[in-house]
Amino acid sequence: MARRATLLASFSLLGACAGQAVTPPAATAAIDVPAIPRPDGETPPWWFRQGAASAAQLSAQSNSGTQRAKNVIVFLGDGMSLPTIAAAHVRAGQLKGVDGESYRMSFERFPFSALSRTYETDQQTPDSAGTMTAIMSGVKTRAGFIGVSQVPRRQDCTASHGQELVSTLELASAAGMSTGAITTTRITHATPAATYGHLPERNWEVDADLTADAKAQGCKDFAAQLIDFPGNGLTVAMGGGRTEFMLAGEDDPVEQGKVGQRLDGRDLIGEWKRRHPDGAYVWSGQQLKSLDLARTKQVLGLFNASHLSYEHERVNDKLDEPSLAQMTASAIDVLKQNPNGFFLMVEGGRIDHALHAGNAYRALDETIAMADAVEAALQHTDPRDTLIVVTADHSHTMTFAGYPRRGNDILGLVQGHNDSYDEEGGAGLARDAAGKPYTTLGFANGPGYTGASDTQPEGSKTFPHSAHEYSYATKGRPDLARVKTSDPDYMQESILPMKAETHGGEDVAIFANGPGAAAFHGELEQNVIFHVIVQHTPRLRDELCKLGSCNKEGVPVDRPTYQAWLQQVGLPAVR
Ligand SMILES: [Zn+2]
Repeated sequence: MARRATLLASFSLLGACAGQAVTPPAATAAIDVPAIPRPDGETPPWWFRQGAASAAQLSAQSNSGTQRAKNVIVFLGDGMSLPTIAAAHVRAGQLKGVDGESYRMSFERFPFSALSRTYETDQQTPDSAGTMTAIMSGVKTRAGFIGVSQVPRRQDCTASHGQELVSTLELASAAGMSTGAITTTRITHATPAATYGHLPERNWEVDADLTADAKAQGCKDFAAQLIDFPGNGLTVAMGGGRTEFMLAGEDDPVEQGKVGQRLDGRDLIGEWKRRHPDGAYVWSGQQLKSLDLARTKQVLGLFNASHLSYEHERVNDKLDEPSLAQMTASAIDVLKQNPNGFFLMVEGGRIDHALHAGNAYRALDETIAMADAVEAALQHTDPRDTLIVVTADHSHTMTFAGYPRRGNDILGLVQGHNDSYDEEGGAGLARDAAGKPYTTLGFANGPGYTGASDTQPEGSKTFPHSAHEYSYATKGRPDLARVKTSDPDYMQESILPMKAETHGGEDVAIFANGPGAAAFHGELEQNVIFHVIVQHTPRLRDELCKLGSCNKEGVPVDRPTYQAWLQQVGLPAVR
């Protein structure tokens, strides 16, 4: 079918661009998006153009086209579903001794919000790799893929060459902006890797993970890709995963019993230090605190052999890991030195892990810690020049249910009141049809199933718990009347017995503040986030116009190639 659908968008982007000038946009832009039989016709160029057209339309509807961001910060709450946000703000309020239901966390006070559809090109319920690639590159792709389009098969290195998708962080580096990626997971984990890396397999974090075929075909692990990042490298990179940067067998300097994992003879931390004599390598919160941030040119921070500790453990442990808020504030102080502005990605990565583990306590804790990091970012930036976007990559199966009375402990058993809308009615503990009390928070699946497993007896489960096999007996629910469900290690009940709870397929939220934020409204495909950001950040937009192509209104409509980007930042293509 040759029929073409046209999305009309009227908006204006002012001239006076950094770098190579682009034609000042007219008042009305029309971006042609070929009408296609979906999903077969969804090619990477189609996704890019669809995203550009949607973003231009959102911009026109909100009259945000003249707003221009100098700095961009993307906060990614991994797995931060809407029920997780709702439960976290109740928890945050209750911990402060104020009304939880009406309490707003930092990003819930942002003036603009939207919904994001998270499906991937091959999965109804997505993973973190393809979703973050969509957010970072403007193109939806497959589950498990990082910075690579949907075209190759998973783990097919040869076919992935030439299918790399240029990320916002890469555009920023080519545009002379500073760049940063911060996370509470390993810095090589899916979400942060999608800011700087390209592989058709998210699990190739260290060279020991790669197949012999993959190595022979020229694929390189994410740890090496981070250290070899073209140009002058990332300005700031902080998170965990230290042993992936160390030689095999080398003792970790902090954690006893942990050893380096690299088989290729590369000491990546040493290489980074030699390549960046003006930079600072740090591995503790105290070292980070002692830096003169306004003069430090680059920072590599690796604070744990693997993922950073959960916030609940971090505050008491001996590793001296910085909080996500401390990392965020420190990073901004370094990035701010650049008059061209910066792009920063901050991930609250362990929200997802706690949900997979079926433990609401830690999931809410991690969500509140990310809200604190957003607050730190607000305090260290100017809303007139900094666009802050807070979103999630995908949902989870945690539910917020029953008819608890106002002010009920969010981690507690459901308590009704006299007028409660409850089948059992009345004050006191609400009870299920079998007469047993239940919690407000629960899971559709996961390790919290209450039948006996091969590691814990029948009854409510304690974190951490992972049955080796799916050997759960099937019996009725436990009596929770004497179980302390607000205990940090209590695991909420799940309907299906599974080793790890799964992601969910429904929309997640987007919250935005600063120039361009008004364009975030309605329900968008997840890859549109990239386009809204670049269309409101002149330096990123102009870089895209140089590397890809823009229509006469200056809107980037065709994606750039990775080769073009490499030429711009000036390093040979090796990965
Ligand atoms: Zn996950």
